[in-house]
Formats: sequence, C-alpha cells, structure tokens
Amino acid sequence: MIIEETRNNRDFHRNGHRPVPGTLARASSSGGEHINISFEFFPPKTEKMGEALWQSIQKLESLNPDFVSVTYGAGGSTRERTHQTVARIVKESSLKAAAHLTCVGSDKAEIDEIAREYWQAGVRHIVALRGDPVGGLGAPYVPVDNGYAYASDLVTGLKNVADFEISVSAYPELHPESLNWDDELDNLKRKIDAGATRAITQFFFSADTFMRYLDKALDAGISIPIIPGLMLQPNYRGLTRIAKLCYISIPDWYHNLFEPLDDDPQTRLLLTASTAADLAAQLRAQGVEHFHFYTLNKADLAFTTCQILGVKAQNTRAQKVVT
Ligand SMILES: Cc1cc2nc3c(=O)[nH]c(=O)nc-3n(C[C@H](O)[C@H](O)[C@H](O)COP(=O)(O)OP(=O)(O)OC[C@H]3O[C@@H](n4cnc5c(N)ncnc54)[C@H](O)[C@@H]3O)c2cc1C
Repeated sequence: MIIEETRNNRDFHRNGHRPVPGTLARASSSGGEHINISFEFFPPKTEKMGEALWQSIQKLESLNPDFVSVTYGAGGSTRERTHQTVARIVKESSLKAAAHLTCVGSDKAEIDEIAREYWQAGVRHIVALRGDPVGGLGAPYVPVDNGYAYASDLVTGLKNVADFEISVSAYPELHPESLNWDDELDNLKRKIDAGATRAITQFFFSADTFMRYLDKALDAGISIPIIPGLMLQPNYRGLTRIAKLCYISIPDWYHNLFEPLDDDPQTRLLLTASTAADLAAQLRAQGVEHFHFYTLNKADLAFTTCQILGVKAQNTRAQKVVT
C-alpha cells in the first residue's frame, strides 16, 4: 500500500496531474501526445521589442501551451510593462497568462494593489517569488519595510486579495541562501501551506539532478506538481555567469560543446535547441510530461525545441472560430 501510494505520488509529480493508468505507455508510443508545455517571457523594453514579442507569442500559441508567464524585473522595475504584457495576452490571445510578482521594491499595500489590478484585468495565475536582493545576486537580502518578506508571505497575501492560482519556485540544486535540504524543502512546504499549487524549478542541466530532487520532495511529503524549468540561452558566457551566481552546475560535456563556439552564434543556437530537447526527452523517458521553457523571448528557439520534442503546432486561431 505504501509502495503503491509512493509510486502514484511519483507519477503525480512527473505528469503534473493525477496519474492515469497507462499514461506512460501511451505517451511513449504516440509521439508527443501527452507533453504539456509552458513558456516564460520577459516584458519588452521598447515598442519595437514589444511587437517582436507579440509575434513570438502568436507563434508559440500554435503549440497550445498550458500557460505562459511574464517575469517581473528585479526590484519591481518592470511593474507597468509586466502588467501591460500579461493584460494583452489575456485580452488578445487564447493563452492562459501568469504574471510573476516579487516581494522586492514595494510594501504590502502596493503589492496588494498590483494583485487587485491583475484580478480586474482577468489574470488568475500568479508566479509568486521573493525576488533577488536589491544589490543583485549574492548581496544580502533585506525585506522591504512593511513588505512581504519571503515568497510564502507573498502567497498568503495574494490569497487574501483573491483566489489566484499560485505557482512558486523550486530549486533542484538548493537556493543559494538555503542552509540544507531540510531548510529548502521546509520553505517549499510553507509556500504550499500558504496556497501554492504548482512549483516551477530553477534551470538545471542533468536529468538526474531533477529526478533526485523529485525524490527528496516526495520523501518530504510534497505532492504538488513540480515542473522542470529548461533554459534556452544560447549565450554560453552569460549562461555560465548566471549559473555560477545561482549555484547551478554545468556538466563538463556542456562546457566542451559550447566553449569553442564564441564566434559561432548560429551553431550555439542550434545546439541550445538540441541539448534542451535532449534533456526534456531524458526526463520524459522517466515519466515527466510537463516542461516549462525559459524562452528569453526567442520564439524560434522555443518552437524548434518543441518540434524536436514532438509537440505539434495546431491552428489555434482557426479552432477558436470553429468552436
Ligand atoms: C521559476 C522562477 C521564476 C522566477 N521569476 C523571477 C522574476 O520574475 N523576477 C525576479 O526578480 N526573480 C525571479 N526569480 C528568481 C527569484 O526571485 C530568486 O531566486 C530569489 O532569490 C528567491 O526567490 P524565491 O521565491 O525562490 O524565494 P523564497 O522561496 O522566499 O526563498 C528564498 C530563500 O529564503 C529562505 N527563506 C524562506 N523563508 C524564510 C524565512 N521565513 N526565514 C529565513 N529564510 C527564509 C529560503 O529557504 C530560501 O533560501 C525566479 C526564479 C524561479 C525559479
């Protein structure tokens, strides 16, 4: 009985929904049928970038993602642009949109007001985060006066504003400020107790890293879906810089592949799609069925990665007219 429950819970994590008997067998024989995807974008800085992003969103809409999310700049610097982007997605596309929101840069009253504005604009899903220290990654974190201190406090506050669907972060290689795995998983549990129903992970490069994390989460009694976050960053130098600050390990094979390609952005682009799709395929072989892509607004890269993975484009706009 205990073994069966644990197995079912494991399937629940990996599939992102309650296990359906035979799901894995069908998925492996039907080529892409049971893959769920979601995409993260960042808010555009200029009108021109805004139009480029909008074309990207329309292209990726055809892949029928579960949801798309829009980041919130460090210290709340993109408050207006995040709102405008998410509100436009809700209004003008068939996509379900999630707004990222952090505790940094605003007190509780201001955050609650932002949340109310999202609810009024028809946004029902928030990715609730603490945010990085004002001094940048690695600097000491100091909560805002009268603010939400941590993501778990923000989740509680958001649930008091309205009945949002709430996703939170998870860290397969520990958050840099976490003392140990108990500390890490206790924090995720606090966020779930406050009302979060999905976790999206920090990016990582090894399927084993993610699967080991799932096992730890299960052993800690965590049963919400944990969605692997896959990074689509062809800028290898930038990626290694961020990975180091976030304590994310990059395997030797990845360094060996990308290091000689500084002057060859085209090959880096192709390899980024291929390595991300390969990582997703390895996870899929172990039963994972939902993948969250950090697109960095590069729609072609995200689209190609999904094609390799077997996610087929559909004519969503035409379907909308027919139904
Ligand atoms: C999927 C995803 C999306 C993201 N999107 C954005 C974004 O849009 N904008 C942005 O600025 N950043 C974003 N980030 C980065 C995130 O803001 C940073 O990683 C940040 O450092 C931590 O945020 P968190 O929500 O994970 O924090 P928390 O879950 O609050 O945890 C942060 C650390 O504090 C510790 N902690 C928690 N509660 C307490 C407590 N009560 N006392 C002491 N310690 C505690 C935790 O153990 C952990 O080590 C994202 C990260 C992920 C994984």
